[in-house]
Amino acid sequence: MSLSQIACSIHPSPTVALNEEARILREKGEPVIHLGVGEPKNRTPIAAILSSAAILNSGDVKYEPTDGTPSLKKAVIRYTEENYERLAAPQNIIISDGAKQSLWNVLFAILNPQDEVIVLAPYWVSYPEMVRMVGGRPVIVTPEDGSFVPSFEEIERVVGSSTKAIIVNSPNNPSGAVYPEKLISSLVELCESKGIYMICDDIYHKLVFDGKAAVPAYKYTNKDLENSKIITINGVAKLYGMTGFRIGWVVAQRKLVEILTNIQSQTTTCVSPVLQAAAEGALMGIQSNVEALRLSMQNNRDILMQEMHSFSDVRCFKPQGTFYAMPDFRAYCGNGLIKNSVELSLFLLKKALVVTVPGKEFGMEAHLRLSYAGSAKDLTEGIDRMKWALDPNAPSEIYLGDRKAVRDWI
Ligand code: PMP
Repeated sequence: MSLSQIACSIHPSPTVALNEEARILREKGEPVIHLGVGEPKNRTPIAAILSSAAILNSGDVKYEPTDGTPSLKKAVIRYTEENYERLAAPQNIIISDGAKQSLWNVLFAILNPQDEVIVLAPYWVSYPEMVRMVGGRPVIVTPEDGSFVPSFEEIERVVGSSTKAIIVNSPNNPSGAVYPEKLISSLVELCESKGIYMICDDIYHKLVFDGKAAVPAYKYTNKDLENSKIITINGVAKLYGMTGFRIGWVVAQRKLVEILTNIQSQTTTCVSPVLQAAAEGALMGIQSNVEALRLSMQNNRDILMQEMHSFSDVRCFKPQGTFYAMPDFRAYCGNGLIKNSVELSLFLLKKALVVTVPGKEFGMEAHLRLSYAGSAKDLTEGIDRMKWALDPNAPSEIYLGDRKAVRDWI
């Protein structure tokens, strides 16, 4: 079979693959606890349900403009003004099938072959793969001090004549870190002075804890949208728990949005108006849902931290936002039986029926990403099971639900 070299070099998304594995185990009746999935358990906001139902009831579901329905764009304009203090024109906005597609389109639109994109570790699994998919080169910056936030100097050091963009995701998936204001302001300055795009993946921007906030990059430039190199990506998946609705958007210069629209017109024509109506409902409806989600995630974060404290040899950075944490499992990796985070994650799935995501996928070996987006009960039980599986002094058999589990190879 003759296939594209680039396409064949792309790895499957590990998080999507793990979701599938957990689903199959659950279908077989296994009492799996899923600490892998980045998906809140909330119900869809009622305003989203009603506005998409209205379109369905009309029986008039047809093609729409490629860059988004005018009314959803209006809602995004309002969102941009309220959250970013920037006046956006409809021509500065394009709606896509999830922030994932938004990001892919942006990378395809700005990169020439071999152009470099700076990706800060730990990073969301899809960034390097997407950059490679469109012919670019990801340049990974890993913090030398073992923290989750690279220093400005470490980032500046890799900027060269091929650097086209830097992707900034704060609050960060997978670490839950919120980047310091000083780093954001320095990056804005760097990008503006060197003419580099600053791609801000703001998908978690309101899920910040302890009374803090994630400062938008726009705060550090006087430039309007037309003259700024900042590209903001957002969506309804995380803040509104509307992962299945697949709506994301880009706010950027008109010229770039025009190119993004051409790309989308040749690939997906337009995003379903039913789903766009749902997103509009969410953005225009009461916003207490977002705050309720933020508070429950903060509560789950606190439960997680308490549980992790009793793991004496695992250090866990306290997440400042999102619904992820990335404890350091170095004590359990490289001990002969379990060589790395992939094997550790597999061990926990097999022995304790707990889904975690190996840190290797995020550029942080010997760590695991745990999601606390689910229920507090699952979180507590999931971590208890992990402790059991990894503790050589624990009883060798326990019950996971009504299934007897045996810890026989550590
Ligand atoms: N960016 C980040 C950092 C994410 O974590 C995710 C989803 N896991 C996305 C983008 C994609 O969001 P969407 O579901 O809207 O495509």
